[in-house]
Amino acid sequence: QSIANPGPTIFDKIISKEIKADIIYEDEFCLAFNDISPQAPVHFLVIPKKKIPRLQDSADSDKELLGHLMLVARSLGAQRAPSGWRLLVNNGRDGAQSVYHLHLHVMGGRQMGWPPG
Ligand code: 5GP
Repeated sequence: QSIANPGPTIFDKIISKEIKADIIYEDEFCLAFNDISPQAPVHFLVIPKKKIPRLQDSADSDKELLGHLMLVARSLGAQRAPSGWRLLVNNGRDGAQSVYHLHLHVMGGRQMGWPPG
């Protein structure tokens, strides 16, 4: 899928509960669930329920929503990886984005390397 085809993604089906995910948090605006292919002992995604394909497609009026996603990542990260974590957003093709529904990756539970590949 590419930005030329910003149709429904697998994450829409996770939001609507058509397909199962290991959901760790949900509220009116967002959902957090464990990544199906974890790259660290702790690896979950925080996604808005509102469809925003890439971070780049967000609007100034999404400010509160974007802040909310960060605060949810903060609270869950602090609970689940208290010695630290990485917050990451892949944006677009060169950013290695594969699912075109905005998501924050939160990874922790091990020492992360830098720079990433
Ligand atoms: P991206 O490369 O777009 O930033 O990351 C997409 C992430 O979504 C990947 O880490 C991938 O493992 C995860 N993912 C893709 N499909 C599913 C799914 O059906 N369920 C869950 N829980 N994670 C998924």
